[in-house]
Amino acid sequence: MDSVGVAAAAPDAGPGPAWQSKCPWGAPNTTSISCSLADVMSEQLAKELQLEEENAAFPEVVAAAEGPFITGENIDTSSDLMLAQMLQMEFDKEYDAQLRREEKKINGDSKVSISFENYRKVHPYDSDSSEDEVDWQDTRHDPYRADKPTTTPRRGFIGKGKDITTKHDEVVCGRKNTARMENFAPEFQVGDGIGMDLKLSNQVFNALKQHAYSEERRSARLHEKKEHSTAEKAVDPKTRLLLYKMVNSGMLETITGCISTGKESVVFHAYGGKSATEDKVIPPECAIKVFKTTLNEFKNRDKYIKDDYRFKDRFSKLNPRKIIRMWAEKEMHNLTRMQNAGIPCPQVVILKKHVLVMSFIGQDQVPAPKLKDVTLSSEDMKKAYYQILNMMQQLYKECNLVHADLSEYNMLWHDGKVWLIDVSQSVEPTHPHGLEFLFRDCRNVSQFFQKGGVAEALNERELFNAVSGLNITADNEVDFQAEIEALEKMNEDHVQNHGKKLSTFSSDGDPPIYDE
Ligand code: ADP
Ligand code: MN
Repeated sequence: MDSVGVAAAAPDAGPGPAWQSKCPWGAPNTTSISCSLADVMSEQLAKELQLEEENAAFPEVVAAAEGPFITGENIDTSSDLMLAQMLQMEFDKEYDAQLRREEKKINGDSKVSISFENYRKVHPYDSDSSEDEVDWQDTRHDPYRADKPTTTPRRGFIGKGKDITTKHDEVVCGRKNTARMENFAPEFQVGDGIGMDLKLSNQVFNALKQHAYSEERRSARLHEKKEHSTAEKAVDPKTRLLLYKMVNSGMLETITGCISTGKESVVFHAYGGKSATEDKVIPPECAIKVFKTTLNEFKNRDKYIKDDYRFKDRFSKLNPRKIIRMWAEKEMHNLTRMQNAGIPCPQVVILKKHVLVMSFIGQDQVPAPKLKDVTLSSEDMKKAYYQILNMMQQLYKECNLVHADLSEYNMLWHDGKVWLIDVSQSVEPTHPHGLEFLFRDCRNVSQFFQKGGVAEALNERELFNAVSGLNITADNEVDFQAEIEALEKMNEDHVQNHGKKLSTFSSDGDPPIYDE
């Protein structure tokens, strides 16, 4: 596992005071920045510091970001990487502000105005200003996935020596600057200015150049094969900040690395720290499940949530980002129900937006193996089977839940027993497709254990009846499925007619028990 370094202790050597004055949360209590910062940032830093000097001419108050985890006493900015990234964001914002001022200055009272909008540094997906209102996350850009390779510029955009621009001839320089924009990297949009008698001030030109340069580096970084760290690449800046705050608050000691990168989530391991409140104990090891904030993979999961009456009212009103959060919320609720029923599963520690922190199943950073990856003795196999049968019944009867993605992929073997995980998609049995999901779960479980040599394993239909308490008698899969669907339809009709669901499906062929 890679060390993510979110809480990496900072050794000596570092850029010094310039950083501290820029820390959005005040002065850090450590002045040292890790060497790795220099490795990662040095070149950029030099440029940024230069830019900063220029910006000093236009001082701007940077609003301090407030977070639930940040308090006056605990400003530990010991993470150089995170600090650098936050600084970068602040720099970018300042840069944009300056660009806007320049834009104003240039346009003045002129009837025809030009816009520098294209040159803004803060990319929509970097911005943390639009916390909830603006729904910029759509399926077109997945911050978790590297962009398709864009064409790399031939070689930089401007040779070094030849464009040291003298500050003496404003008009000439201005025209030259505009013309030179043509030399920026091909993917760098220079707008319509070229061809007009447009005079860019040296400052604007240099700023643009600097931006073009960092854009290039940025895309190079995106396509870099070798990752600096897992977390850095796996989550977007906002999530990184969220994780950072958890470490900063002391709730987490260290985020050590990534355990799993799935289509819908990324899971990290972390060592637990101390809770702010006395009554809560943070587990020594935690798993952090970050739900990916794009809809790409969640689209096909609509059916799990939009028909779940618990979330129905809210679903239609939500923007995609909130829907992702709802998945995290759903997982939290479902885990809590399971915990209360005594089913072995991760214990919820905290939910922050789309990030769910729970206890880690495993030890010393090594996650417990999935059932599919572990070779059990036939005795353990049999034990696991009966345990699962039991858990499925508990889940159904006591938690009023169907796992809906139960298989050897979502069961971990730890401490001599099976642990259930991954329950964000779990639904109540009266969900319009709840029984179909249950049947699918039963099929996965039956097949796994039958193949695994457990002679006692019920077949999928028997298992279904054993879990649900229903008594569907069809002796073949097709008829069985048809009966399941008929039951679901009956339930839906009941909802239509009575505006209410059945509290539970009937057992042993009795008439359904209505929740009146
Ligand atoms: P996904 O939707 O990506 O399948 P999961 O919740 O199944 O999400 O998590 C992916 C993987 O991360 C799991 O297969 C497991 O290996 C690991 N994992 C998730 N939660 C935990 C946990 N609490 N403890 C240990 N490992 C976990
Ligand atoms: Mn899973």
